[in-house]
Amino acid sequence: MNLKTLVWLAALSYTLVIGGSLLMYRLLVVYPTIEQAALELRQNNISALTNVYEHDRDTFSLFNLDWAKWDNTYQYVSGQRPSFPHDNISSPSFLETGTDAVVILNLQGELLYASQKKQKRFQTTDNILNITQDLDINYVLKRDSQFGLIRHNGRPAYYVSHLIQDSAKQKKPNGVLIFIRDFNQRFFKRLNLPNGVNFELTALENSGKSSVPVVSVFNISSLKNKYVFGLGNTQGNIIALAQFTYPENSTPTALDSTTMFSITSLLTLPLFITVIIYFMLLRPIIEISTHINRMKKTGEVYRLNQKNYITEIDGFLKRFNTLVDKIHSYQKKLLNDSNTDGLTQIFNRKYFDEAYDTAWRTSTRANSTFNIVMIDIDYFKKYNDHYGHQQGDTALKEVAQALHKLTRRAEDTLARYGGEEFVIICHSPNTEQLKAKLQSIIQSIRDLQIEHNQSDICETLTISCGACFIGTTGQWMTNLKLDALKMADDALYEAKSTGRNKYCIHNFSSED
Ligand code: GH3
Ligand code: MG
Ligand code: MG
Repeated sequence: MNLKTLVWLAALSYTLVIGGSLLMYRLLVVYPTIEQAALELRQNNISALTNVYEHDRDTFSLFNLDWAKWDNTYQYVSGQRPSFPHDNISSPSFLETGTDAVVILNLQGELLYASQKKQKRFQTTDNILNITQDLDINYVLKRDSQFGLIRHNGRPAYYVSHLIQDSAKQKKPNGVLIFIRDFNQRFFKRLNLPNGVNFELTALENSGKSSVPVVSVFNISSLKNKYVFGLGNTQGNIIALAQFTYPENSTPTALDSTTMFSITSLLTLPLFITVIIYFMLLRPIIEISTHINRMKKTGEVYRLNQKNYITEIDGFLKRFNTLVDKIHSYQKKLLNDSNTDGLTQIFNRKYFDEAYDTAWRTSTRANSTFNIVMIDIDYFKKYNDHYGHQQGDTALKEVAQALHKLTRRAEDTLARYGGEEFVIICHSPNTEQLKAKLQSIIQSIRDLQIEHNQSDICETLTISCGACFIGTTGQWMTNLKLDALKMADDALYEAKSTGRNKYCIHNFSSED
């Protein structure tokens, strides 16, 4: 597994664990509590409908009882007190009782009196159907103390009834007194519903079986925005619908915006940290690793050209680059050492072979001149034998330095060819100038005045030179590299055999 995978895997695991735990906590612990609380609150609102209704109805029933078990009412039904409705029901004080309609029947079910409140006064009517279509007359005639839901003038209402009897309850009941009350604004207010909650009570035009079940106890089991209950009359038919509507935002949801925001924020955090770790830490490490792999592949060392704001990584980069610089300088020294002759500190034979090859090939492509000069110390064996090997080394060094001074031009290459032999690659434009150069070389050694009393030709150390002169370089030189060297060697041999302490030049041209 690489670093990148590891970091992304860690971030993913964090996301799954934290995200998953938060989600589970919300769904299994927090949300059920919130849901339960909201459900209880709604149940209380909805139960208020029953409570307020039952309370109002009971008070209304007591009021009705009071009037039904009253001698005056009893006497009216018996025909003894015809002014009863006018004296009592039509009186202004009765308007304040919250009664919207009054019906008096005798025990045979005949309508004795019916009136309803209209424009702040009670108006009598002959048709009971004008007042209520749901009242079950047979039912109320047979039982004392009744109540139920009805439609009054097409609006939801309820009735209370008692059999009419003398106040002492000595005589038999002679009729029934029914009071009707509408569900009005006063009733709605008493429900005390919270702001935003809408309650509607609508009577159905046609009563009957409906898809909504008839309920007497309003129980809810789940959170919804709308609850509809069917209200039934004494025959069990739905005559009205009670509907509670809650605002959309008052219903809690398992994954509400706050939860989603918290979870998203918490999940953004690892992403943010991962991105920072990736750019500040991971990418530099990956780049370093790639860099080191490239070094391994090419066998070369390179500096790491990146900047990092993390102290440790920046410190590492600096130390790495210092190391690379050191390796480069060692490499340079090593290369230099491998090209340098240990004794004389000029280029060695190995370097010469490469330089000669390069110079030769360059010359085949150019139109210039090319010279190889072979130099050999005269009677050096004798020198060594006489002055000792160490002294011989010193002499070799001095000769090399003298030659070096004369071959400082960039195009000149001086190297120790082997033993007491040296070689020079130079580019004198003509033989005259080459002669002058060789002469000055020979003179420079003589000027060193190194004593050599074993020499057959001179008191001091001398050299002989053999040169190969190529006046016009070009394509013709291809593959003739060794011939030119041989020609210089031959010229040296000639110089040796014809007296030493001199030079010989052999011309090499395309005609040869
Ligand atoms: P000639 O004039 O014909 O060149 O005679 P020579 O004696 O110089 O030639 P020869 O090739 O016979 O001897 C070369 C000598 O150079 C042999 C060896 O002792 C000496 N020599 C070669 N390399 C070194 C070296 O590194 N140090 C010293 N001190 N002597 C060396
Ligand atoms: Mg020699
Ligand atoms: Mg020699």
